[in-house]
Amino acid sequence: MSPFIASTILLTAEDIQRRIVELAREIERDHPGDVEIHLVCVLKGGFMFLADLIRRMQARLTIDFIATSSYAKGTTSSGEVRLLKDLDTALEGRHVVIVEDIVDTGLTLMYLQDILRARAPRTLRTACLLSKPERRQVDVMIDYIGFTIEDKFVVGYGLDFDQQFRNLPYIAILGES
Ligand code: 5GP
Repeated sequence: MSPFIASTILLTAEDIQRRIVELAREIERDHPGDVEIHLVCVLKGGFMFLADLIRRMQARLTIDFIATSSYAKGTTSSGEVRLLKDLDTALEGRHVVIVEDIVDTGLTLMYLQDILRARAPRTLRTACLLSKPERRQVDVMIDYIGFTIEDKFVVGYGLDFDQQFRNLPYIAILGES
């Protein structure tokens, strides 16, 4: 048995769902007319956020998935980012929104923005559910932030620790039992 537990609830399922409605509205407001929005979900942590976000959107949209290396069985970043799974379709001329679970040091997002920008999308924006600004190592641009949180390792709502806890409908601080 793992000695780790999701100890303190930081954001309830209701907090998250309420904020996602607002984020969906903000994203649609920034893409007026009949433009198609192409959402690029960063696996694995972003899958639940993407699923709830797109169900709150009425715009024409498409989705794709990309995966980068995550922390190896720990709670601190190695600072090295690698592409594990690339997109299925090209981005040229499209209105792209990166959908990310959490921005911590910012290194992953900076890397993703750089490689995706090089594929010549018409616009490139980023939505992240959580941001930990205290931990930032690079000045990365985020267009939509769900919640700004303090420097605590969190799990739930797609976010894992050692592949566990992704199924929680809320976000909690990881603690020891
Ligand atoms: P960054 O490159 O910004 O340091 O880290 C981004 C990635 O690290 C996130 O996509 C996520 O996978 C992981 N990460 C950063 N902070 C946390 C956290 O508090 N909890 C979990 N579960 N993952 C985190």
